[in-house]
Amino acid sequence: DIGGYENIKIELMQTVDILKNVEKYRKYNVRTPKGLLLEGPPGNGKTLLAKGFSGEVNSSFIPVSGSQFTEKYVGVGASRIRELFKLAEQNKPCIIFIDEIDALGRSRSSGEQTDNPNTEAQSTLNELLVKMDGYSSSDGIFVVGATNRGDLLDKALLRPGRIDKRIYIGNPDAKTREEIIKIHIKGKPYEDNIIFDDLIEMSNGLSGAQIENLLNEAMLLAL
Ligand code: ATP
Repeated sequence: DIGGYENIKIELMQTVDILKNVEKYRKYNVRTPKGLLLEGPPGNGKTLLAKGFSGEVNSSFIPVSGSQFTEKYVGVGASRIRELFKLAEQNKPCIIFIDEIDALGRSRSSGEQTDNPNTEAQSTLNELLVKMDGYSSSDGIFVVGATNRGDLLDKALLRPGRIDKRIYIGNPDAKTREEIIKIHIKGKPYEDNIIFDDLIEMSNGLSGAQIENLLNEAMLLAL
């Protein structure tokens, strides 16, 4: 039930194909991707797309939030990363979805973290970098990150071999808004004289979540 975003779906399906046919790609000496990043403004279906992606790959899905790894005590975040990858290892093939990945993958030079390599945030990020580093043991584990602030992420995390692909998901275009309206208007009765094209036009600039909310509020009000 993810409306529109056809070109994004095509891109995701290409990665699905790679993950499902690793051997075919390996035969031609291709390095298969380890992760991808979905970035863009809030409420545009990043979480939905990540879930759909894992459904297509037919793998286990572990959703976590970057903020679950930010702790006061040094080493706690890093040990949680190790636990996370261990769990993924036991459930291979597995997709780890890290929502708000900027909370743990923030650039080490962004000022919020000091140069001291022992700070909690740094050791957590370092552990993630190590875990994502082409170890053969991590075969069958794929990381999908989502963020509203891709610009804050550490370059080491974004380098090919860790997060290989960045997909930008902006506010929906007319075609996508039409699909989103169709999905969320289902089951909500409306007058025959409602002109769909007007709804699509009027919702220009809204995110998917805002469109869903608009239709929901309208129905609540009517009831
Ligand atoms: P955030 O960045 O705040 O985490 P997000 O991009 O992950 O947001 P989602 O949680 O995936 O956004 O989407 C929020 C809600 O918006 C969904 O539960 C759904 O109701 C609606 N929505 C967004 N995009 C779509 C879409 N393409 N099709 C159908 N519903 C959508």
